[in-house]
Amino acid sequence: MSTSASRRRFIAGATCPQCGEVDKVFTQTRSMRTSDSEVASEQRERGCVACDFLETIEEVVTKNAPADVKSGEGGDWSPVKLPE
Ligand SMILES: [Zn+2]
Repeated sequence: MSTSASRRRFIAGATCPQCGEVDKVFTQTRSMRTSDSEVASEQRERGCVACDFLETIEEVVTKNAPADVKSGEGGDWSPVKLPE
């Protein structure tokens, strides 16, 4: 079991605060479950693929988090479309 639980989503039009590149910034959510406790936490991070910028946005502690969280939250996400 070596699959990473993190998922990356790129932010259209976002500028990296470190290197200034546009459309290189992503957010990812890392889920962490403690071994024999019911408490799980999620850490949201923001990073950049053009440089090594990475920062934690927020950490959310949830109880009894379901193993498979449906991605229905914040529903108006659309895929990145590069301007022509
Ligand atoms: Zn960057």
